[in-house]
Amino acid sequence: MSKHVYSFAEGDGQNKKLLGGKGANLCEMTQIGINVPPGFVITTEACLEYLDGDGLPDSLMDEVREEIEQLEKATGKTFGKGPDPLLVSVRSGSALSMPGMMDTVLNLGLNEDTLAGLIEQTGDERFAYDAYRRFIQLFGKVALGIDDVYFDEHFDAVKQQAGVKADVSLEAEHLKEISELFLDVVRQQAGRDFPSDVIEQLQLAVEAVFRSWMGKRAVDYRREFNITPDLANGTAVNICTMVFGNKGNDCATGVGFTRNPGTGENEMFGEYLTNAQGEDVVAGIRTPKPIVDLGDEMPEQYKQLVELRNTLETHYKEVQDYEFTIEKGTLYCLQTRNGKMNAAATVKTSVEMFGEKLLTRNEALLRVPPELLEQLLHPTLDPNNDARVVAQGLPASPGAASGKCVFDADLAEKLGNAGEQIILVREETRPEDIHGFFAAQGILTSRGGKTSHAAVVARGMGKPCVAGAEGIVVDVAARLARVGERTIHEGDVITLDGGTGEVYLGAIPTIPAHFSDELAELLGWADETANLKVMANADTPDAAKRASEYGAMGIGLCRTERMFNATDRLPIVIDMILANSEEDRKAALDRLLPIQRDDFVKVFTVMAPNPVTVRLLDPPMHEFLPTEHDLLEQIENLEVYRKIVRGRQAAIATLDHAVDLPEALQELSGEHVNDALAHKERMLRKVRELEEVNPMLGHRGVRIGITYPEIYEMQIQAILEAAMQCAENGVDVRPEIMVPQVITLQEITHVRRAADEIVARLEEESGKKVAFKFGTMIETVRACTRAWHLAGVAEFFSFGTNDLTQATFSFSREDAENKFLPMYNEMGVLQDNPFEVLDLKGVGKLIKMAVQGGREQREDLKIGICGEQGGHPDSIQFCHDVGLNYVSCSGPRVPVARLAAAQANLRSQVTN
Ligand code: ADP
Ligand code: MG
Ligand code: MG
Repeated sequence: MSKHVYSFAEGDGQNKKLLGGKGANLCEMTQIGINVPPGFVITTEACLEYLDGDGLPDSLMDEVREEIEQLEKATGKTFGKGPDPLLVSVRSGSALSMPGMMDTVLNLGLNEDTLAGLIEQTGDERFAYDAYRRFIQLFGKVALGIDDVYFDEHFDAVKQQAGVKADVSLEAEHLKEISELFLDVVRQQAGRDFPSDVIEQLQLAVEAVFRSWMGKRAVDYRREFNITPDLANGTAVNICTMVFGNKGNDCATGVGFTRNPGTGENEMFGEYLTNAQGEDVVAGIRTPKPIVDLGDEMPEQYKQLVELRNTLETHYKEVQDYEFTIEKGTLYCLQTRNGKMNAAATVKTSVEMFGEKLLTRNEALLRVPPELLEQLLHPTLDPNNDARVVAQGLPASPGAASGKCVFDADLAEKLGNAGEQIILVREETRPEDIHGFFAAQGILTSRGGKTSHAAVVARGMGKPCVAGAEGIVVDVAARLARVGERTIHEGDVITLDGGTGEVYLGAIPTIPAHFSDELAELLGWADETANLKVMANADTPDAAKRASEYGAMGIGLCRTERMFNATDRLPIVIDMILANSEEDRKAALDRLLPIQRDDFVKVFTVMAPNPVTVRLLDPPMHEFLPTEHDLLEQIENLEVYRKIVRGRQAAIATLDHAVDLPEALQELSGEHVNDALAHKERMLRKVRELEEVNPMLGHRGVRIGITYPEIYEMQIQAILEAAMQCAENGVDVRPEIMVPQVITLQEITHVRRAADEIVARLEEESGKKVAFKFGTMIETVRACTRAWHLAGVAEFFSFGTNDLTQATFSFSREDAENKFLPMYNEMGVLQDNPFEVLDLKGVGKLIKMAVQGGREQREDLKIGICGEQGGHPDSIQFCHDVGLNYVSCSGPRVPVARLAAAQANLRSQVTN
């Protein structure tokens, strides 16, 4: 017979899989001497057995009864009878925290007898009935499945009759009346009497908590956050002696963070309510007070709370998010877990906790999830706006967002899916609203504090949130909100600043984020720790500048065709494509040369002394021309226009008195139109000539370089001349020339030879030397298999994992993502999108083969990756493991990649 129940004093605080995070930490805290009310944990194994078959494991309730006896001994109270009845909470808790996703029942153990005992024992009728009515509702909802609305309508009615606004103003008699009405609700809705046998209560509650693991909310949440069974399987149940924060004004309940989770500041942070029970703080029923106020209100308990905070942090070496209750002056800790923080706070606390010697530098690096850094690159509101603040709430989750107001989660989801920018506006949010969060750009609530559901969930998602904006009155039924005299209708655009708590009418422009000192420090450590260098994909001088601000150590991919697309060049590029002779083509290329050279000078200068890898022209030429469809339409329009011009000329000739014509029209001669028509028709012929069945597998990359050598020659000359010009300006440059789409050694030999000739010529003309590296993209399967040969000429390889993935899977990204890939992922036919996460099993194997072949030929072969996956932490780990020298990714991903590269090295040191 296996053991299913562990007391807080005996459970293994490390075993979160078995005891759940909450349970394990309750055990741990008990064992290090923190004041936790006595209790015990029923394991996740028991939950799985229950969900698997018929009923609770055989001996479970016997074990539970034994533990209850222990609780009775420890507390001197008795379960199910007076004079001093034992009440417990029945709380869910799985291996991973899923805030608010599963159920908890408080005050279990009340029935008519124990209620009388409680009244006798405390002499506080109001308190006893308050506990009772809460228990009936929670138990009714959780264990008997009765919707809150049936209870709430009675509650509100009594409140209204009594003429009170706040729950705390209700008298004992009101609460008594409410309790009786609630018992009726149970009779009617559940078709049974409220169970008075406390062991039956306990059993039903345990089963209900077990079942909540498979509840829709919890299942959705696990799917959204990718919580698989090997991460968390089943929920444990924690049975914990009740302590009461609602026994009077020397009682309180609250939630704290050991540091500020919004900024990382090392300060007391949290909220509390006097004379209230746990859920009241989180649910946003009353707006709680900031924790520092407790210092004035209960100085002695505040001191204890500061001690509790210190004990938790030194023990867990991590920021904690904890729950506490003060009953008649005694402080209890009811829960602790690692605090969810936004990126800024995670970075700041990492750096500071290293400074405080709580963490080593490596621990501080490993503690920050790389993906989180992307939040730091979130924009903030442009301070130079003249928009008016219409409401002020609490800054609950930083970042700024604009969008249309939407008052319920379902509509939010609908509009969000349709691509609208929206702000979810609610009085308060509940776990049922989670789908609305996913769809929204930001969240605004009129009630609740910084630890309310809305705040916690928004922070977890990195979305801006303003909570408790009490000036706003939300009227969901009328689909509007009132702020003073003003009315905000659904669909009106508002802007939130989650960093200040301000709410504005209308949309406000945002400005990009800047690096904090802490982030710069952390990334500095990362660079010292990593083996992999992090380069950026950047095509223009502007992008290069931004990339170097993100800390890129060079450019791993500069796509020259992007330079061709600017409005001042495209006409020249088109002339080059339309050229019918080599001579005409050269004439166009001669005009392009200085433009490209200038671009390169700028890019090289920005990145100096870091390397810049320039890829020679890659896409098929038709990409620079309009589509056939567009051209046909333009030609049709021009023909109509030609008729009009002719008609106008004829008309003027026949008119005997002058007509006032606009100048522009007078100047327009038929010739202009004829020229334009001829040009378009030439383009159309070219477009038809260039048409390919599979352009991506057609005439592109080095194949253009071989068939139209003058194009690559011009580009190589522009690169080398730019390098020489930079050297003259005293700029230290390292150009690298990279050939795309290579399948055979002969291709690169060809290009290399051309490059050597150009260098020789330039060096002779100028009498100066120019150094460069020559290499190839590895993006065809054949190139992987011929790597040994290619490395004979190529001095570096760069894996183009987008094309290589398409080639390996034999499907194109666009078709896959638009047609079948989502379904493949959903059905588990493919685990991930291979265009986002490098496919280690297939593409990864080819990469390994190419690395091995290439390095066998050329020991110091420099190898990197420039596909989009280069910025993904898992792919970076792989790149580290196979011995690449660098990854190259888009500019904003560079900080993520720098941290991931450091972590990859630290992790591989642990496993080796
Ligand atoms: P959740 O996971 O939703 O936070 P909990 O199990 O932590 O659910 O409980 C919900 C609320 O009830 C919390 O505020 C908690 O502090 C409070 N609570 C739970 N058990 C007790 C107890 N034994 N005494 C007093 N308050 C409790
Ligand atoms: Mg909790
Ligand atoms: Mg490619």
